[in-house]
Parts: sequence; structure tokens; C-alpha cells
Amino acid sequence: MTEWISLIRDIPDYPQPGILFKDITPLLADPAAFTAVVDDLAEGFSFDKVVGIEARGFILAAPVALRRGAGFVPVRKKGKLPAETLEASYDLEYGSATIEVHADAFAPGERVLVVDDVLATGGTAAAAVDLVRRAGAEVVAVTFLMELSFLPGRERLPGLDVRALVTV
Ligand code: AMP
Repeated sequence: MTEWISLIRDIPDYPQPGILFKDITPLLADPAAFTAVVDDLAEGFSFDKVVGIEARGFILAAPVALRRGAGFVPVRKKGKLPAETLEASYDLEYGSATIEVHADAFAPGERVLVVDDVLATGGTAAAAVDLVRRAGAEVVAVTFLMELSFLPGRERLPGLDVRALVTV
């Protein structure tokens, strides 16, 4: 059930001209909608850890992890994690970025669900998948609240189980 889709609002020209920003804050403010989304993001998958991608991925991934008895692992923008890290750089729909994960975040072979809010160009998720694999774990699936169908994000995640709760 995706009645909550009306709670994601479009903000034109944010953070720069030409970008239609998908703002999930009204959805997060609605407990029934937030609960439905958290349940649906992980439905049918089996995993040991949930990776959330900074920043909105954190908000979705942490409750998924708790609800399913899994651990939570943050993938953060460069310079934010205090211990030894692995890093990956990539291009964004707007700009470029480097993300990091703690090098000891996973036990060897742990099964990982990667969660973020929006799949746009796929660069962020592909970099997060790369980090998880280099840290010695296995990605079982990559799940998003929303996929932007006019961008080829999925093509950046070949061979992976990619789920989006809604495609626009
Ligand atoms: P990408 O790497 O291009 O797939 O971009 C994904 C990341 O950027 C996600 O963490 C999203 O939160 C954010 N993002 C990209 N495009 C949008 C958009 N149109 N609306 C909201 N967030 C976006």
C-alpha cells in the first residue's frame, strides 16, 4: 500500500535550478506512513546489518534495523567517522561526493541491506555497495523509498536486487 506517496512533496529548483527535490519530511512526520514504509523497505529480505546512507538514509535504515533485529551501520560523508575508514568517490545528480564506512563495520560475509531515500543517478548507492563489499560483507539488496525513472540509476547497480517502493 503506498497511500503515503502523497506525503512526499516536490520542491522545484532545490538545491539548485533544474532539480526537482523529493522532500520526505511530511512522510516522516506521519507515524502511520513512516511505519508502513519501514516495514515495506525490508519485507522479504534476510540480513545481519542495515546500511543507511547519510543523511536521509539514516532516518529510514535505523528503524528498519531495529524492527528486524539487525545492526545499523552508517555510511557517512568524508571526514565524519572517527575510526579507520574505507572511502569511495562518485558523481551526484548535483555535484560530487566522497563517502566512508568504518573498515571494521562488518564481520566477514555478513549479509547487508543498503537503504536510502531516493535512487537518482545511482552513484551514491553504487559507492555504498562498493564500500560494503570492500569491507568484506555481502549486499543482499538495495532498497529505496523512491526511484526516479527518468534517470538510469538502476544501471549503476547491476546484478543486485534493487527495490523501490514507488517509481516516479
Ligand atoms: P544519486 O547518487 O544520484 O542516486 O543520488 C542519490 C542521493 O541524492 C540520495 O541520497 C538522495 O537523498 C539524494 N537525491 C538525489 N536526487 C534527489 C532528488 N531529486 N530529491 C531528493 N533527493 C535526491
